[in-house]
Formats: sequence, C-alpha cells, structure tokens
Amino acid sequence: MNSHRDSEQKPIVVVSQCLGFGAVRYNGLMVENSFIAALEKHVRFVPVCPEVGIGLGVPRDPIRIVTLKSARRLIQPSTASDLTERMSAFADSFLRGIAEVDGFILKSRSPSCGVHDVKLFASATAEDSDGKGSGLFAERVLRDFPFAAVESEARLGDFRCRHNFLIKLFTLQRLRSAMTSPTDRELVRFHKAHRLLLRLFDAEAATALDAKFEDFLAKNPPRYAGEVLRVLSLVPRDWRRRFEELLKSVRDEFPAELLGNLTRGLHASAHAGHFDVIEFLHRARSMLFHRKQAPLGCEVLFEPYPVALLNWRERFPAQPQRSSHPQLIRHGE
Ligand code: SF4
Repeated sequence: MNSHRDSEQKPIVVVSQCLGFGAVRYNGLMVENSFIAALEKHVRFVPVCPEVGIGLGVPRDPIRIVTLKSARRLIQPSTASDLTERMSAFADSFLRGIAEVDGFILKSRSPSCGVHDVKLFASATAEDSDGKGSGLFAERVLRDFPFAAVESEARLGDFRCRHNFLIKLFTLQRLRSAMTSPTDRELVRFHKAHRLLLRLFDAEAATALDAKFEDFLAKNPPRYAGEVLRVLSLVPRDWRRRFEELLKSVRDEFPAELLGNLTRGLHASAHAGHFDVIEFLHRARSMLFHRKQAPLGCEVLFEPYPVALLNWRERFPAQPQRSSHPQLIRHGE
C-alpha cells in the first residue's frame, strides 16, 4: 500500500514543563512520564511552566485556588499574595504567541495546569477542599483552544483517553497541514483519507460533509475545517459499536471477502465482554497490508496515529513492543 501522505510535519503539543522537561515544580522536582517520553519522537513539544512564567522561583511555596465571592483566585497562602492577574496576563500573552498548536498535555491537579481535577478551597487557610475545577492556565487553554486535543498526563495513563487523544492530535495536525498547503490538492487528499475515520465519530455529519465537500472547497475551505473540528469533538465511547455500524455502512464499497474478514476480526477482538480496539486495529492492518489496493480511507481508519504509539502499553513495560507490525502510513518521523 502506498502512504496516503508523506508529510514530515509533526503535531505541536504544549506540555507542562515539569513533565520531564525541567525540575520546575514547587518542590524543585520534575515528574518523569514514560508515555510523554515515548511521544517525544512523534511530536514537537513546546514546554511551559506558567508559575515560573509569572516569576515564582524554584522551589517555591505552594499556591492554591480559592473561591472568593464565587470568583476563583490564585493565592499563595504563605505570602498572602493574589497571583490571579499575573497568571491571567501570562496565559493571555503565552497563548496569543502560539502560532500553531494541535494539543496540550498538562500536569494534573496543579492549580495552574490541572485540566479538571484541581482542588478548590473556600479560603487560603482551609484544610479541606470543597470542590474541583480547572487550574487558571488550563482554564484559558480550554477557552481559547476549544477544539485542540487537551489532556492531563494522569488521564493519558488510561488507554481510552490516550487513544482518543492521539487520534484527535494527529488528525488535527494533518488537517492543519492540509489547510496551510498552497493548493487544494492536500485538502482533497485529507478529505478522502479521513472520510471513514470521521464517520466513526459522527456518521451523519461525516456523510453530510462528503456531500458538501466540493462546495466547501470552492467557496469556503475554513468552513470545511470547522466542520471537521466539530465532528472530532464528538468522541466515540463504544468503539465496537461504531466499527460495527461503519462496516455495515460500507457494504457496497468494500470487497465482500475483506468485509467478512473485518467483521470476524471485530468479534475476535472482544474478550469477556471487553472490546480491545488496538487488537482489532492490528488485525485490520494485517488484512490490508498485503492487498494491492485498499478501500479509500482505510489507511487512516486503521492507523490513525503511529504504530509505536498504538503499541504503547504502560502497564506492561517489560513486554516487547509489537514493532514487527507493519506500518501502513508514515507519520512524519
Ligand atoms: S504543573 Fe504547571 S505550573 Fe506547576 S510546575 Fe508543572 S508546569 Fe509549572
């Protein structure tokens, strides 16, 4: 099979600096994360430490989010400093300065970087938290980049979150690359390559996008990109059901023998009620590898991001990586 694209580009990911890029935590340490280390080869990281960015030293006294009159403030209890305005100004200036970005990996539980799991306190001295929310920097990220792939390093330890994050991240990079190409050709290639993947996310919207593509291309390519972003925000929860529905919908497009094998592969990848989507993707990729021609869109559907990341399993680090699996497409190494 030919590569559907040979871009040397990589996704751009803003990452909390303490996640392996610098000992900038309040206690002078950093956090090693094996997934982020594995990802480094496949993306371009842009590390940032918002707390160092607002002039706090390393090490430093801890800070926390305090809810005062229903407004959230970033407070350093030991100095009674209110750092809210400084953090807002830093976030605005840093995020405005990013010309291109596809995703963010932010440190969990941090009052600055935490995405959704930050302890909120009723006062600077309260011992117990009274709720959870986003850190101040992360809140700006979510507001200013609503369609980016955004996750914490903690959630990326969970396979489902990681899989969804990586699909979105690499698709956004391919879309960005197609949109910045001087000719329409790249966008046409993107659309053809992603037609099946987008159907997994939202079959109805993806079919409508198919029907309107020529129109969007002629009159309003950014509107097309906007529609793709909207479809990508509808993260599938039940991958098995989505694949079952997709395979039914392509009965007239796929050779019967391939369709039969894929359907059998889908059932064989379910064990004790649990569907192993990675196992299914590997089965599907093996079926396609020896075919001279695969149905349009299969390459991205079954290999939406690099194989090395598809194989990455933190819980079994001692197991050999399944690097012998064939690679269908090149993801800008
Ligand atoms: S969590 Fe964010 S603010 Fe805190 S040390 Fe890490 S990068 Fe800096």
